[in-house]
Amino acid sequence: MSNQAHQYQIMVVDDVDDNRLLLMRLLTQSDYGVSMADNGLTAFQLAEKDPPDLVLLDISMPEVDGYQVCQRFKDTPTLRDIPIIFISALDGTLDKEKAFSVGGVDYITKPIEARDVLMRVENHLSIRNMQKQLEQRNLALEAEILRRESVEQKLMVQATTDPLTKLYNRRQFFDLAERELSRAERKNRPICIILLDIDKFKEVNDTYGHLVGDQVLVRLAELCLINFRKYDIWARYGGEEFIAMLPETDIQDCKLISERLRKIVANTNMQFDQITLSITISMGISCIDADSDLSFDELLDQADQALYQSKREGRNRVTIGA
Ligand code: GH3
Ligand code: MG
Ligand code: MG
Repeated sequence: MSNQAHQYQIMVVDDVDDNRLLLMRLLTQSDYGVSMADNGLTAFQLAEKDPPDLVLLDISMPEVDGYQVCQRFKDTPTLRDIPIIFISALDGTLDKEKAFSVGGVDYITKPIEARDVLMRVENHLSIRNMQKQLEQRNLALEAEILRRESVEQKLMVQATTDPLTKLYNRRQFFDLAERELSRAERKNRPICIILLDIDKFKEVNDTYGHLVGDQVLVRLAELCLINFRKYDIWARYGGEEFIAMLPETDIQDCKLISERLRKIVANTNMQFDQITLSITISMGISCIDADSDLSFDELLDQADQALYQSKREGRNRVTIGA
């Protein structure tokens, strides 16, 4: 007899043939598909191959008793959620307690009453269905939450970074810099900024084209990031102008690492298909420390003037703002 057409599959586990047959007849009359096992091990193996929707389980069986079968179902992730109803001649409170404690959902005492069995089966199938619906709704909700989080994440990146260089954009720089500045002020620690501008960048564009110019900006951004500490904040300030804020850094150190970057950039051959080129950069740096109590605007202004001085004095250099 094929059970495929039935909406629900019930597994009957009992070592006594008559008991199994009685339940099978009852269940098939109510249009359930029925599978049967006369011992615990067979029940488990059958269920693993083809999990039923519900199990009617006898307790007293030789070798493996019903409690152990139930326990094994509950320990198996794929079978854990199948409702198990115990059917037993044992009528003691302790037996029932044990049946529920190993994970049974209900307990029917023999001799069985047909209507009672059917009612309970129906009841637990419908509870299980509701559980499944809830699980599915939860899964869908979780997927939706993940989707929204990833959209939010993308929007966040879009809103805070420069699409070409992947450095922070100007607005995000101001947000982060304000925070760093007030922290530095509170803790009385020095903090520096670097304003950086590519020398004669217009010539790069004019000579090699705008697309190569774009790639130069990308390479320069990479050089800035890999040669500075993780918590230094690099941003694209304007066209070919970058800005950095360096927490916990005094002006001497800032000068040293800016010089180091300047040399690295000047000595880097950038290769793009057939083209090899190198660029130089000019920088202006300024610092807030115990000796110079500047506002953010004044700090920026100082760095800007220092950058301008670097340009005036021949480019490819670092000037300290004063
Ligand atoms: P200086 O040494 O005085 O800074 O000379 P410069 O040529 O770098 O300065 P100028 O301000 O005259 O020119 C800046 C150039 O940077 C012109 C502009 O087209 C180019 N530029 C700005 N943003 C981008 C960009 O996103 N991509 C490319 N390829 N070029 C850019
Ligand atoms: Mg320039
Ligand atoms: Mg410029």
